[in-house]
This record gives sequence, structure tokens and C-alpha cells, in this order.
Amino acid sequence: MYCKYGSHRVIHPKNTLPQAADKIDNHMVCLDNEMLIDVETLNIDSASFHQIKEACNYDIEAMKSMILSIVQRQGKMQNPVTKSGGMLIGSVREVGKNFHNQNLKKGQKIATLVSLSLTPLFIKTIKAIHIENEQVDIEGQAILFDSGIYAVIPEDLNEHLVLAALDVAGAPAQVKRLSKKDDTVVIIGAAGKSGLLCAYQAKQNVGPKGTVIGVVNEAWQIDVLKALDLCDEILLEDATKPLAVYQKVHDLTAGKLADLTLNVVNVENTEMTTILATKNHGIVYFFSMATSFTKAALGAEGIGKDVTMIIGNGYCQDHANITLDLLRQAPKIKAYFEKKYTSGGPR
Ligand code: NAP
Repeated sequence: MYCKYGSHRVIHPKNTLPQAADKIDNHMVCLDNEMLIDVETLNIDSASFHQIKEACNYDIEAMKSMILSIVQRQGKMQNPVTKSGGMLIGSVREVGKNFHNQNLKKGQKIATLVSLSLTPLFIKTIKAIHIENEQVDIEGQAILFDSGIYAVIPEDLNEHLVLAALDVAGAPAQVKRLSKKDDTVVIIGAAGKSGLLCAYQAKQNVGPKGTVIGVVNEAWQIDVLKALDLCDEILLEDATKPLAVYQKVHDLTAGKLADLTLNVVNVENTEMTTILATKNHGIVYFFSMATSFTKAALGAEGIGKDVTMIIGNGYCQDHANITLDLLRQAPKIKAYFEKKYTSGGPR
């Protein structure tokens, strides 16, 4: 009996689900309740890609070897350090007879919306690594479990743009739920992929009397935010320096601090920055995969801060449509993303 969550593919340790497993079966035979995908491009999660890039000293061949060895060892592209994955685009090769959607057609282009950290993957060759946008073109195949969600790539948007945006679709969709009219929202890492989408969504929600504050760590990122008409205020500061960021947010808000703080960076040790920037009874949203539960929980307790801390679930209802619609409504962000995520030469 095949499991809808894919536990039938777990090799080790037994009785775990595929995300927690060290090794899963990546034989590319489509079982009754699975979909087999011919993979075109992987979008490696930013925290994972950053770790691989640093570990390989930005050497593309070394990065290829590292990615191949991870997938060979584990049957999936789950970074052993960050434990995170990413997403993929490809085309439907085969649909098992008990897969929940029998209407998919062979060759139809899709993006998976479940993490690569649980997706059986086989890589025959890595064709190219696009270091500037964290996408990896491969020849290979993947399996989607019956419970796995995916989006059919819409015809009006470039598929690599869709891949990039859907990788972080949970973040703007959650911001739509969490931010309210007149709120002050602080975004740590505002010039990144999810940061830009969140900044746009936050402004839609807080309205003209609310304030969106972006924290960035490089001067050129201020220009990006300004060119895209994002963020009412921008702070240039290193997010790994909690007291420095706190002081600037404190001064800018006349001591009131943020109703909602979003953490969308791709580096460690930013938990306390996020918590300190937030007012008592405010909300902290940790989307970053480099977040430590221990540092956040014990750190908040240690400074006596009563905030609601939300783990950035990659899935939230209707997140794909919300995010793709956001791109359609925001032509400047769409154009910026097109330049960044669909570049890298012909594919
Ligand atoms: P991204 O485009 O790389 O953005 C990260 C941003 O953080 C960049 O602008 C980066 O600036 C900035 N940053 C790095 N170090 C900083 C520092 N010390 N101070 C201030 N800013 C700093 O990444 P993304 O794709 O938006 O992803 C953001 C996070 O979400 C990552 O941790 C990723 O792994 C995670 N994620 C989570 C989920 C989920 O389901 N929860 C799904 C996908 C991704 P530089 O360019 O200067 O480094």
C-alpha cells in the first residue's frame, strides 16, 4: 500500500516521513499514487544555496559536485547543513492511476510547491548553475507524492519567473493575512526575493497611514527599493547586529516599534534583531530557513518580550495565486524579477 505522504519511499530511518528521512528511494518509476516529472530547473532555497556557494568558494564545478553528491547520497536535494530544499519546474511525464488528478496531460509544464527536501530526485547531469539567481538547470526526473501540491505554469508568465516567485509564495500570502491597516511593518532583508514581494503586499494592507520599514545590509539595495517604490523608510544595517537595528527602529518609530516584523534573510543569528524590533504583543514572522527555534524562544524569554512568533510555513492557502497575481499587479517588481531570474543566457 502506497502512502499519500510518500512514506513508502523512505529508506532510512524507518517510520519517518520523507522530509525528516536521511535517505529516500529515488528510483524513477511512477508508482500508482505518484506523478513522474521530467525536471528542467531546480530553484535551490536561498539559505541552502548560500551555504553551498560559501562552502565551495563560489566555484561552479565544486558546487555541481556538491549538489550531485547530496542527491546521490540522500535521493533528494536537502542541504545537510540548512536542511532546506527549494522547488522545481518541469513537465509531466506520467501520472499513476491513483494519483488525485487524472486530468494532467503529458508534457504539461508545472512547478512543484512542495520542498525539494522531501522530493525524490534523480539528476543525470547538471547543465548549468546560475549563481546570480540560485537556479540550477538539470537533466533528471522527480516524483511528486499524492499529497504534493503543484501549480500549472500560467501562459502569461515566464516559467523561470514563476519558479522564483513560487519558491517564496508562502511569505507574501502570510503577510496578506498578518498585516493590518495602519500597522508598522519591519522587513529584515527587504531587498531579497521574498522581501520585495512582502514589502509590496505589506503596503497594500497597511495603507497610506501605515509604515513599511525595510532593513537592508548594502547601499545598492536602497536604490533597488526606491526604484521599485517599495518601503516608506529604509534602514541600512546588518541584521546580525540586534542592538544596532533595534536602536534605528526605535528612533524611527518614536519608541513604538513594529506591530509585525518579517524575517526574510538567508543568514544565521538574526532572531534577536527580529524580536527586538517588535513591540510587546506584536507578531514576529520567521520565514528564513536560517532561523533557530532555540535562539528565538530562549532569546525572547531572556529579554522578557511577549511576542507571537510564527514559523514561516511554506504553504498557505491560495499562496501561488496570491503571489502570481501580485506580480501581475506590480509591473516594476515583475520587470525586476524577469531581469534577475530569467537571465543567464538561453536555456
Ligand atoms: P534572498 O533573495 O537571498 O534574500 C535574502 C536577503 O537577505 C538578501 O537581500 C540578503 O542580502 C539579505 N541579507 C543577508 N544577510 C543580511 C544581513 N546580515 N543583514 C541584512 N540583510 C541581509 O532570499 P529569499 O529567496 O527571499 O529567501 C529568504 C529566506 O526565506 C531564506 O532564508 C530562504 O531560505 C527562506 N525560505 C523559506 C521558505 C519557507 O517555506 N519558510 C521558502 C523559501 C525560502 P545580500 O544579497 O546582500 O546577501
